[in-house]
Amino acid sequence: MTSAGPLVSCAMRLTVLGGCGAWPTAVQACSGYLVEYAGFRLLIDPGYATLPRLLDHHTVDAVDAVLISHGHPDHCADLNPLLRSRGLSDAPPAALPVYAPHGAVDAVLALDKPSMLAEAYRLHEFKPGDRFDIGPFTTDTWLLPHFVPNAGIRLTSPEAVLAYTGDTGPSPDIPRLAQGADLFLSEATYIHEVPTADAPYLLTARLAGQYASQADTARLMLTHLWPGTAQTAAREVAAAAFRGPLDIATPGLVTDLARGG
Ligand SMILES: [Zn+2]
Repeated sequence: MTSAGPLVSCAMRLTVLGGCGAWPTAVQACSGYLVEYAGFRLLIDPGYATLPRLLDHHTVDAVDAVLISHGHPDHCADLNPLLRSRGLSDAPPAALPVYAPHGAVDAVLALDKPSMLAEAYRLHEFKPGDRFDIGPFTTDTWLLPHFVPNAGIRLTSPEAVLAYTGDTGPSPDIPRLAQGADLFLSEATYIHEVPTADAPYLLTARLAGQYASQADTARLMLTHLWPGTAQTAAREVAAAAFRGPLDIATPGLVTDLARGG
């Protein structure tokens, strides 16, 4: 992991805006990840309270596209203030491309009357399983089991691969989307076990470590820990299965990804 510095032109950079599951805390926004490559900035999952953390690094017009894994508000609620801050400014930037599974952002887009933000975005809905390009990134998606349709995401640039689960239960598709990735960003809502009723729809740090090992990823980053989870315990459990570099997503964490790095 590196501290924030000048973006090396060939690097694919991940900046964590937040990684808290369910709701934000005083020190941690919900899911939000900025991925940069070749001057293109892709914001993945603008969850609760991620916009202020984005503003720690960039102005709102610096975002080139948004990609959303699923429609839970801890993954997309701050799309509303992002669009407001762009669309209602004195000099609105170009419409923001927003990629999301069908229907996933209907609720957040309905917070304002349609005409107010209509020129602020262009919605590109997809079906998890689709492959498409966003700027310099080839985007592969998988339908993974969650309470609502969730897209597991594999972003490929010429320099590196980032694999991200969104929110999911166990699935044989997880090691497929993560296979050989330079960074596997995996939800780990719980440490050892998911409560029985939710077990098909969420992961643990234990499973995240096992999937990272199975997929032979270069690094593992745990995210979406339930508020109040002991990070040290989550790390230890994941590290028992995955021997490579391991981090926990916290706001401001910046890492440059490179092939085999
Ligand atoms: Zn969710």
